[in-house]
Amino acid sequence: MSLPTVLSSSVQTQGDRPQLLSQCCKACGVTTFPIAAMCSRCGHDCLAHVELAGEAKVFSWTEIHRGGAGMKTPYIVALADFESGPRLFAQVRAEPAQMRTGMPLKLAFGVPPAGAPADAYYFVPSAP
Ligand SMILES: [Zn+2]
Repeated sequence: MSLPTVLSSSVQTQGDRPQLLSQCCKACGVTTFPIAAMCSRCGHDCLAHVELAGEAKVFSWTEIHRGGAGMKTPYIVALADFESGPRLFAQVRAEPAQMRTGMPLKLAFGVPPAGAPADAYYFVPSAP
């Protein structure tokens, strides 16, 4: 078994497979993201790292036309809710015509569509 390689505070690899980490509170059971020192619901500090995986549904999205230095525009960003609870903000590799509230997304890893990654993850539509 290989040890995890930390790529950022929340992204790590287990073997060759990247994963995004969230936390599950052992006291109240809530899953949160980003990683923090204590539970945002109950304040307890007994938290276990768990993979943030599966589908997330678009809560809201927008198309960005002015990006930071080195970023390709336009690009899409979205807030999407995972079934486990966390709401994640990330770029989306999709066309604006595809986007709708409630559409299912899944995580992908690498350089986001517009570049300039803060973390090496973004969303892609989970249905073709
Ligand atoms: Zn808690």
